[in-house]
Amino acid sequence: MKGKVVVSAFLTNLFSLGRASAVTIFPFIFVQNKILAKDEDLMNHERIHIAQALELLVFPFYVLYCMEFLVRLVYYRKVEEAYLNISFEREAYAKQSDPYYLLTRKIWSFKKYYR
Ligand SMILES: [Zn+2]
Repeated sequence: MKGKVVVSAFLTNLFSLGRASAVTIFPFIFVQNKILAKDEDLMNHERIHIAQALELLVFPFYVLYCMEFLVRLVYYRKVEEAYLNISFEREAYAKQSDPYYLLTRKIWSFKKYYR
């Protein structure tokens, strides 16, 4: 399951509140433009979110994602820092440059990035 890539600045801005180059709304990866759609690290980052969403049966992934964001926002009081410290994001950023990561990744690996 690699996700279906949709190139649309409008939908990417809509789903990321205008904040991201790409956003994954399972099973779709929305990306701002065709050049970014060829960015291997960015696409790998989003595919890691596809794997995380799938192993949590999709909806609970988004619930947990939002809950962790809100808890971290209270803690850090900065949107960017709260976002970067979500376990799902920490795993995706840590492994986005490894093109083989998703081939060997174990289920619920995001738990290792919780702190
Ligand atoms: Zn991400």
